[in-house]
Amino acid sequence: MGNNSVFKGDFKEIIISEEELKQRIKELGKEITESYNEDDDIVMLCILRGAIIFMADLSREIDLPVTFDFMDVSSYGASTKSSGVVRIIKDMEENIEGRHLLIVEDIIDTGRTLKHVVDILKTRDPKSIKVVTLLDKPERREQKEIEADFNGFEVPDKFVVGYGLDFAEKYRNLSFIGVLKEKMYN
Ligand code: 5GP
Repeated sequence: MGNNSVFKGDFKEIIISEEELKQRIKELGKEITESYNEDDDIVMLCILRGAIIFMADLSREIDLPVTFDFMDVSSYGASTKSSGVVRIIKDMEENIEGRHLLIVEDIIDTGRTLKHVVDILKTRDPKSIKVVTLLDKPERREQKEIEADFNGFEVPDKFVVGYGLDFAEKYRNLSFIGVLKEKMYN
């Protein structure tokens, strides 16, 4: 069980429980494992910081050798509204030419961040690019051509936090995903 009791009072609703996350991530790991060959050279790229918890749990459900890498991209700053600006704060380290790239995202909202990241990484000639996202908010999509190959859960058009996702850098270490009470934003 996670360390969630001190935070529960901050939430209006819990959208995805710890148990549901565990179960779905197990399934995703299996789907991903089955989509590659055993001798594929796979680089798992965690998009910081929101995908870090998901990456850690998902990678342990993938029954293949993988290399870890990290890229830090910022689109929201300390608010809940998209600034429309996607900045690369830290690039990945691995050379991905001729290798299979698996991008690990926390949530696809407008799709802007992912489109930007994929466009850059395509120019580096990986053998394949696949995307796994824990959450998807399809109602909000602006970049219609951007879809994940593997998707944990569809969520409604609400600002969600927990399990890696933050509000002003808080709540990332929760084991569940939920929506905060209005007063938490003031
Ligand atoms: P997009 O570029 O698709 O609009 O936004 C992607 C990024 O915005 C995500 O990787 C995530 O960091 C942030 N984001 C989008 N929706 C939410 C949300 O509901 N909660 C939180 N905490 N972050 C979000």
